[in-house]
Amino acid sequence: MRNHSPARTSAGASVLAAVIVLAVMIANLWFWWSQEESIAPMDLIGRLEVLRQDRAEAKPETAAPTTKLKDWEKLPAAVEAPADRLSGRALTPSPLPEERVAQVGQGDTLDHALGRLFIHGAPKAAVIAAYRTLADPRLIRPGQRLFAQFSTASPMDAYSLLSVVIAPEGRGEGVSIVRVLGGDQGLQFRARPGGLAGHMQRQVLRCTITGGLELSLKRCGHGRGLSRLVTALLSLRMDMRSDLKMGDQLTLVFDELVAADQRIRYERVVGLRYAGSQTKFTGVSWQEHKGRVATFTPEGTALEPMFVRDLVYGARLSSVFGMRMHPILRKMKPHLGIDLAAPTGTPIRAASGGVLIARKRAGAAGKMVRIRHGRGFSSEYFHMSRFARGLYPGKKVRRGQIIGYVGTTGRSTAPHLHFGVRKGGVHVDPLQAFDTPGKSVPTRELLAFKTSVKPVLALLSQISTVAKARGID
Ligand SMILES: [Zn+2]
Repeated sequence: MRNHSPARTSAGASVLAAVIVLAVMIANLWFWWSQEESIAPMDLIGRLEVLRQDRAEAKPETAAPTTKLKDWEKLPAAVEAPADRLSGRALTPSPLPEERVAQVGQGDTLDHALGRLFIHGAPKAAVIAAYRTLADPRLIRPGQRLFAQFSTASPMDAYSLLSVVIAPEGRGEGVSIVRVLGGDQGLQFRARPGGLAGHMQRQVLRCTITGGLELSLKRCGHGRGLSRLVTALLSLRMDMRSDLKMGDQLTLVFDELVAADQRIRYERVVGLRYAGSQTKFTGVSWQEHKGRVATFTPEGTALEPMFVRDLVYGARLSSVFGMRMHPILRKMKPHLGIDLAAPTGTPIRAASGGVLIARKRAGAAGKMVRIRHGRGFSSEYFHMSRFARGLYPGKKVRRGQIIGYVGTTGRSTAPHLHFGVRKGGVHVDPLQAFDTPGKSVPTRELLAFKTSVKPVLALLSQISTVAKARGID
């Protein structure tokens, strides 16, 4: 047995520790020198800043109106403070005007609500007078929001009031009452329709799936509102019951309405990247020429494929497309669709949007529905126990809408849905049809699309890079 003196052991440990520290320092220096591109968080900050400016230029509704209300242009533009949600720090030093928010309570008057924002005396009277030119102050309702901006932080100085937005409780715009600056008329406000109870702030988020989507987002510090928006997008592409796996990575770029450092609501998800063990995809939202906002892959194909795969919840594929021995007729016969076995009464969803062209009882098909879709496709659903209410030929059907319920009417041995797809009138294999990509951005708009989604895609990549550098990946 050997004897170590405690002094020698501790001296040895100190030397070892010093060597390790030195090695780590050298490794770090080498790491930074070897990086071609800076992956410091500052880069992300710069991106957000650029993005903010882009949006300020791109959104005409936030610009001052040009018709005869030129005075407003002298107002400081609403300043947005993007925050880095990876670190939880605000990215810009705060040049913000002082903001205050209030909500109209039960039995409240506009007078009282303004008082709670420390707007008193002449400024208050001027605000109410301006509001009266557009709306009746007595018709203010509980739940409506007031959002005020002041040039100073002192609650005593009502004269520093720059603007008040009186907005409805939910989504939508309200009335903006904005100070007329630089005139010689003294204290004066003008009202105009429009304005949000706060300002939009673009956020980035990287979140690891650690359970259901709602729980995962909650653990990443976000509420149900965001989970609802994200679910709507993810379910365009994946089956939320089976494709969401622990450890999958979700990256989001989204806008939220913020007032006085409080989140009023999640507004929209503008970009997302899902990197999972079952599925991987990137989506960016884009407003089409017609005005509808849809989500596309970076290449410009709709995130949602042409057809819903999950027509009958929990169904088992019991027969495929092609020649088979018919179970009742006992002879070889082509099977012009697939069979999905499920209990009687299980809802059946429309495979894609379109127009209902048949809803009837038809011999071997039993109770059946046929829907005409775009691009030469139609789909058919046989052996239903009953039809969904209010569905008649000529009616529009939404993608995924419930059109009927599983049954065993017609030539059928057990409850199942027979699902068929035709292209140009000819039956095709539905399992192959499921791979049909969704509609694409029209060629003439492709350039505009790519230009418009570029900053969002850059931001998504940037977040991944920062997350990897910080070892969050
Ligand atoms: Zn069948």
